[in-house]
Amino acid sequence: MNKGGKTNYILACMSDIIKLLPDSVANQIAAGEVIQRPASAVKELLENSMDAGAGQIKLIIKDAGKTLIQVVDNGSGMSQTDARLCFERHATSKINRASDLFSIRTMGFRGEALASIAAIARVELKTRTKEDIVGTEVIVEGSVTESQQQCQCSSGTNIAVKNLFFNTPARRNFLKSEQIEKGHIYNEFIRIALSRPDIELMYYYNNQLTVKLDKGNLRQRIVGIYGNNYNQRLVPVEEKTDIISITGFVIKPEFARKKRGEQFIFINRRYIRSPYFNHAVEQAFQELIPEDTFPSFFLFLETEPEQIDVNVHPTKTEVKFQNEQYIYQILKTTVKRSLGKFNLTPTLDFERETAFDGLVIDKGKPPVAPSIHIDPGYNPFLIEKGSGGNQGKRGSLTGRINPEQWERLFHGHKTDKTGSAGKQISLDSRLEKDDREILSKKFIHIQNRFILAPVKSGLMIIDHQRAHERVLYERFLAYLDKEAGPSQQLLFPESIILMEQDAELFREMLPHIKATGFGISEAGKGTFIVTAVPFDMHDKGPLQDMIEEIIEQYQIHKADARINARHNLARSMARRLALRHGKTLAEQEMMALTESLFMCEMPYASPAGKPVVVVLTADEIAEKFK
Ligand code: ADP
Ligand code: MG
Repeated sequence: MNKGGKTNYILACMSDIIKLLPDSVANQIAAGEVIQRPASAVKELLENSMDAGAGQIKLIIKDAGKTLIQVVDNGSGMSQTDARLCFERHATSKINRASDLFSIRTMGFRGEALASIAAIARVELKTRTKEDIVGTEVIVEGSVTESQQQCQCSSGTNIAVKNLFFNTPARRNFLKSEQIEKGHIYNEFIRIALSRPDIELMYYYNNQLTVKLDKGNLRQRIVGIYGNNYNQRLVPVEEKTDIISITGFVIKPEFARKKRGEQFIFINRRYIRSPYFNHAVEQAFQELIPEDTFPSFFLFLETEPEQIDVNVHPTKTEVKFQNEQYIYQILKTTVKRSLGKFNLTPTLDFERETAFDGLVIDKGKPPVAPSIHIDPGYNPFLIEKGSGGNQGKRGSLTGRINPEQWERLFHGHKTDKTGSAGKQISLDSRLEKDDREILSKKFIHIQNRFILAPVKSGLMIIDHQRAHERVLYERFLAYLDKEAGPSQQLLFPESIILMEQDAELFREMLPHIKATGFGISEAGKGTFIVTAVPFDMHDKGPLQDMIEEIIEQYQIHKADARINARHNLARSMARRLALRHGKTLAEQEMMALTESLFMCEMPYASPAGKPVVVVLTADEIAEKFK
């Protein structure tokens, strides 16, 4: 269809068959694209009020919009001439020339909405600019101007749409039940409300004020819409890069829903439907929420208007992006990091380890996923075992942990006794910058399972097995990325024998297995010789058992399409090698484990998505004493 020009043609028959469509018919056709249902008219009118700089907007609906859709704003208003012109097709004040299309900051720009609405309804407009003393009233029905006259009205615009679809019975008949159409209207209202918390909004349904939202910030707006209990559920998200900035909130994973409901992404304050970006956010939640549940989020992307094309869809809910994949990665990583942070903010503050700033995008190459650095050599369980292995590969802090360092870590002392630079210093400064601290270096282990430590906000409880699984999981993943896990040669190579089924699976796993530090080769049918093991795999029982169990774990997860081979292997090994419940831990081991947990990208959840750390706040404890 020709959307670009004013001309529209239809074919009749025989010679000289082309006729110009009357404007009213052209408008009706256009209306079919822009105004599918009452909610679309609501969206267009509310957006016009936003574009007009309104600080307050009232939305008044009767009978799911079939009887009345009215929007009253205190924005710029229109002059007498504009009040008449605004119903013309392609009449817009928002762009002057084609090049303006590349720098659109307003919601509207196509000049179609009012013409479309007026083609299929009765529209009564009253409007006045601040400078004018008298306002203008225009009444249009089915594209025909019924009257235009001066009127008394407050400054701003008051536009009432009546009898929508009165002359397009097909559309009218296609409308769903009042309940459903009402739902669509409410959804549009919510999207607008979320996109502009700085505007006061009121929603009247069948003469009743049903929603009133005061001006405020985004958090206040969300709470205003969804209720007070949302205040506790919000996890802030913030990131700024050269081409995009992201702000907003995600809802804590434990409140994931059975249906995709509250998933909002806005680009330059415009709500967009983007399964692609939604997927990025869902990926960030992947390990944290049960399958078949969906996270909720309210995310705002800001970018230069040149980076996006909003003109790909008549209702502008779809947007084309340059650098789409790059943004996908940033979105995913940013949300992931925010989630990793939130549960631990009362205890340790996580500095971001990857700076996106200054990341240059090379048009030729696919963008590289920003990642969070994990020290692959980090092994908290080598406190006493100073010898053996290739210690040289490991970071200085990780080689040996002494109590003094912990003291410094927890209290932010600035003594410079030990020579361990680098990481230690950055940990110190992190804590100093934000004087949250673990209040004691004493850890308590209960039931050989939970590590307890007092923190500023209350009591931190860590499940030691899950914590260790998480640590190992991330470490193995890092090895797998680099294909170079530190390994330890066995003095006497061992052979293991696998049943054919297992052997087959094991062959598939072999390249990855080797990357984690195993030295293994197949010697004969089902017989494998192990010459080296990952560096920290002491005392884990007979190799034969261990490998069989890893294969078993691997097989269990293999059916899960969401887990790829790398993750599967890392997860299976972590599961097999983690400290079990029931194991006694020395104080230093608890310290070391806690620290390495906090260095993880996602300390909050085990690889299987179970909670690792819980903070019981003082308030919650006090509650128990009531
Ligand atoms: P667009 O928003 O794409 O420009 P519309 O058909 O929605 O097209 O509106 C046409 C024009 O009418 C706008 O460009 C604007 O100048 C004017 N207009 C519409 N609604 C309002 C309003 N609430 N307040 C002030 N001006 C308005
Ligand atoms: Mg508009």
